[in-house]
Amino acid sequence: MNESHQIAMSVPGIGEAGRTGDWRHEYPVITAEACLPVKSGRDSCQICWAHCPDNCITRGAPPIIDLYYCKGCGICVEVCPTHAIAMHPEAELGRGAL
Ligand code: SF4
Ligand code: SF4
Repeated sequence: MNESHQIAMSVPGIGEAGRTGDWRHEYPVITAEACLPVKSGRDSCQICWAHCPDNCITRGAPPIIDLYYCKGCGICVEVCPTHAIAMHPEAELGRGAL
């Protein structure tokens, strides 16, 4: 039997909750040398991009994080298989950086 199924999906949209970068206490930094796409020279991994609830990570080698919308949840840090992302104190950023 050939059945088709439809699945409801919810995809985050950048900026839907406003300027979520104002919510942070810490901000994520990617160490490019430890990032799989950089190390392999291929469009691989991107697990951080797939898991960011604010859709504020752009695919790339390395991925780029938009700090205007990053709310500092740390999910990208938790899911990165090579520990290439670390949270840093927000105080290291000047407010003019956003
Ligand atoms: S999850 Fe980690 S290794 Fe993978 S693309 Fe993101 S920063 Fe790079
Ligand atoms: S900490 Fe990481 S997962 Fe969370 S909003 Fe910022 S970029 Fe996205």
